[in-house]
Amino acid sequence: MSIQTGGKQRHRVVVIGSGFGGLFACRHLKKADVDIVLISKTSTHLFQPLLYQVATGILSTGEIAPATRIVLRKQQNVQVIMGDVHDIDLVNRTVTSELLNQDTVTPFDSLIVATGAQQSYFGNDHFATYAPGMKTIDDALELRARILGSFEEAELATTQEMRDRFLTFVVVGAGPTGVELAGQIAELADRTLVGTFRNIDPRDARVILVEGADAVLKPMGPKLGPKAQQRLEKMGVEIQLNAMVTDVDARGVTIKDKEGERRIEAACKVWSAGVQASGLGKQLAERSDGTQTDRAGRVIVEPDLTIKGHPNVFVVGDLMSVPGVPGQAQGAIQGATYAAKQITAEVAGKQKPADRAPFKYFDKGSMATISRFDAVCQVGKLEFSGFFAWLMWLVLHLYYLIGFRSRFVTVFQWFVAFLGRHRGQMAATEQWVFARLALEALNGNEDDAKEVRTETGNGAAVPTAKAAADPKAG
Ligand SMILES: Cc1cc2nc3c(=O)[nH]c(=O)nc-3n(C[C@H](O)[C@H](O)[C@H](O)COP(=O)(O)OP(=O)(O)OC[C@H]3O[C@@H](n4cnc5c(N)ncnc54)[C@H](O)[C@@H]3O)c2cc1C
Repeated sequence: MSIQTGGKQRHRVVVIGSGFGGLFACRHLKKADVDIVLISKTSTHLFQPLLYQVATGILSTGEIAPATRIVLRKQQNVQVIMGDVHDIDLVNRTVTSELLNQDTVTPFDSLIVATGAQQSYFGNDHFATYAPGMKTIDDALELRARILGSFEEAELATTQEMRDRFLTFVVVGAGPTGVELAGQIAELADRTLVGTFRNIDPRDARVILVEGADAVLKPMGPKLGPKAQQRLEKMGVEIQLNAMVTDVDARGVTIKDKEGERRIEAACKVWSAGVQASGLGKQLAERSDGTQTDRAGRVIVEPDLTIKGHPNVFVVGDLMSVPGVPGQAQGAIQGATYAAKQITAEVAGKQKPADRAPFKYFDKGSMATISRFDAVCQVGKLEFSGFFAWLMWLVLHLYYLIGFRSRFVTVFQWFVAFLGRHRGQMAATEQWVFARLALEALNGNEDDAKEVRTETGNGAAVPTAKAAADPKAG
């Protein structure tokens, strides 16, 4: 175990997470008289709203996930370290993170926790084997390989039943991510892949969007949801509402609706139906003086975004639960900015924790793209759809993308994909599909994993995982 000292004797701020919350907290502490250590288990700042474009071959990971240490290179008061934080000691004011079996202990005076949320399968974690979520770069690359791999397998299918199964894509959850993904898979099949196969016509692909509620994009209200539904249906996406997924396996999904249980045979399934807050939320709540978490594991913070009894510990972003604040980038950015401002003022002696004005969220609206040139957008009471909404989406996403290079390359890639029919990022490998499962197999049972490694090398775990994922299995 090593001790991070942080060097100088200034006020020490530890920021956990390099997403919107973590990065914006650091940036807003730029001029503060503090030393910051940013700890994250990923080396990049991931722009999650464009993950679906990586999954469908429009963007590369570089455009949406610049290295955090390069983004913060010029900010002299920040040190970026990699590590999975597993312990926050509120009494001794230290954070313990782990990287490749080595623990690092970092002391803090103030702490900002912005570790976000993960995919939730509502207690059915085994669904993840066959229906990956959309939260990380790995997820997006795995999905790209699964989507493109299904077309490849359809080309080689020897029966109509197999061909249909490989050409059926099920997206679970009709929130913004599900809508965007379904729309892009349909466009991929109807534009980019047309004419590239000899045995199949990619336009025969069925894209099915399954939703447990009674509307698409329900939080966006009674007008925009049906509009998005109409447009998706025009593109050929089948929408099944009031339909609960009760099982997922290699060959498809089982669905329960008012008519009973039924099956959809599909090789490629995507899960975008729920989120579960990072486990650090529960740990913080348990160690505080009475803070609770909500059903999704988010920390029910005080009006100043701290936990009870610890005014120096802020929780921001998707990990915080504040009435009226959605789990969106704006919530994370505004929460992080607020926390940074309180620390700056207090370190400068201009304010005491007891004088803090409560956090106020300013709702800037929400939006979702449906296809190229088509989106829905809500700003306050104003609602837009179609080309104008799509232009707003485009400008806003470019504004929040980090770095000139990312913006420049993204505009180029969009130009190619939206005006032409080509997509620049169509690479996919078998490893992207099976590596997660192989790793899970290795990590899941240390003894077995050791045996496998000793006897036949790491690769031997792959067939096990492959069997689990193989759409032909079962
Ligand atoms: C597919 C998708 C599409 C989205 N689309 C939109 C959109 O269109 N508009 C919008 O406003 N919002 C959108 N969102 C939501 C938005 O991305 C999130 O609200 C936002 O990223 C939350 O920021 P955060 O900093 O709280 O968490 P995240 O951005 O999730 O960052 C969490 C960080 O914590 C790190 N971390 C986690 N656990 C640990 C640990 N134990 N130790 C160390 N580090 C850890 C992670 O590596 C990561 O760097 C989308 C989200 C997804 C997944």
